[in-house]
Amino acid sequence: MSNNVFRQLFDGEPEQQNAPAEAVIRVNRHRCPENHPCPSVRVCPVQALSQIGYSAPTADMDKCIKCGKCVRYCPMGAITLG
Ligand code: SF4
Repeated sequence: MSNNVFRQLFDGEPEQQNAPAEAVIRVNRHRCPENHPCPSVRVCPVQALSQIGYSAPTADMDKCIKCGKCVRYCPMGAITLG
């Protein structure tokens, strides 16, 4: 059994590919209501996203590994990676 299949079976996480090295996180401030703790900040595995108060989050691309988790967790679709 490959490691990826093992991970899918036992971690419940579908296999995912990181975005290309040149991809960057963009936060669309028009989509973010800026009135809540950003759920994407909590799911980033490398603490690349930060938020001051309830403002739209910002990404540190020196830390980001381009996994795309933050994109999937933003309920407003305000974060893109590409
Ligand atoms: S793409 Fe992954 S590593 Fe980069 S900011 Fe989003 S959750 Fe963090």
